[in-house]
Amino acid sequence: MPELPDLEVIREYLAPRVVDVAIASVQVRRPIVMRNLLGGDPADHLVGQRLTHVGRRGKFLLFSLGNGVSMVIHPMLAGRIRYGDPLARHRVRDVLVLCLADGRELRYHDAKDMGKVYLTDDLNQVPRFAIQGPEATDADLTLDVFRQRLLRHRGEIKRVLVNQTFVAGIGNAYADEICWRARLYPFRRRASLTAGEVTRLYSAVHCVLTEAIEILRTCVGDAIDVEVRDFLAVHGKAGQPCPRCGTSVSEVRQARRATHFCRNCQPGLLVGGGLGR
Ligand SMILES: [Zn+2]
Repeated sequence: MPELPDLEVIREYLAPRVVDVAIASVQVRRPIVMRNLLGGDPADHLVGQRLTHVGRRGKFLLFSLGNGVSMVIHPMLAGRIRYGDPLARHRVRDVLVLCLADGRELRYHDAKDMGKVYLTDDLNQVPRFAIQGPEATDADLTLDVFRQRLLRHRGEIKRVLVNQTFVAGIGNAYADEICWRARLYPFRRRASLTAGEVTRLYSAVHCVLTEAIEILRTCVGDAIDVEVRDFLAVHGKAGQPCPRCGTSVSEVRQARRATHFCRNCQPGLLVGGGLGR
C-alpha cells in the first residue's frame, strides 16, 4: 500500500515531468475504479487540459488541471502510478491511461480494483479526504499538537497511527516501523503511554517518515510503480533478526493485516493484540 513516503517521492518525480503538459487523450479502461463527481464523460473534463500542479495530501495524489478540475488518485492497497513511453500493449489492470501531448503516458494501474480515481472541482467531495488530520510530516504538527490529538484516540497505538483522522499518511508498514523506532509494543493502549513514551512516538513518526523519503529518493528512480520496502527494519521481516538487538522479528496477523515487531525491543503483555489489556 503506497504510504506518505512512497507517494511523496512519486509526486516529486512527476511534478517536473508533467506540469505544463497537456492531456491529448484519455482511456478509461476499468470504469469501476473511476469516480467522476462532475458527471458526463470523464474525457470531457480531461482532454485538452494542461496539468498545472501535482500535489499530495495523506495517501491521496492530486493532479490539478487548467480548468479547475482535480484528478485525485487514492491507490489504497494495490494502486500503482506508471509514467513513461507508451507500452506496446495495455496491461490488463491498467485503469486509466492519459496520453500526454509530449508523447508520454501517465497510467493508473490497480491489481485489486480497490483504489479510486476521482474527478472533482471540490476536494471536500472526495470520500475520506476532508476528515484527514494534519500531515504526519507537517512542521505544524508539534509535540504539543500531537499530544493533544492523541488524547482523542483510545485504542492500540498502531491503530491510532493508521487512523487518517489522527494524522494523515501513515499505513500498515510505516506504523510498524514507527512503533519499532519508538521501542513501543504496537498493541499498547494509547492511555497507557507515559509522557516520555509519547515524546518518543512523536519523534519516531517524524524520523521514520523523513528518513524513508530520503532513502526512496535515491533508490526509486524511474520505477515509480515499484514499491521499495527492503530497507525497512521490521515490516515484512518476520523471522529475520531485529537490526537493533538480533532477536527474531515477530508477526501477528489480524484481519489479514500483518504487524511486525521485536519482542525484545518492544515488550508488551499481550501477544496477539486486539484484546485490550
Ligand atoms: Zn530488537
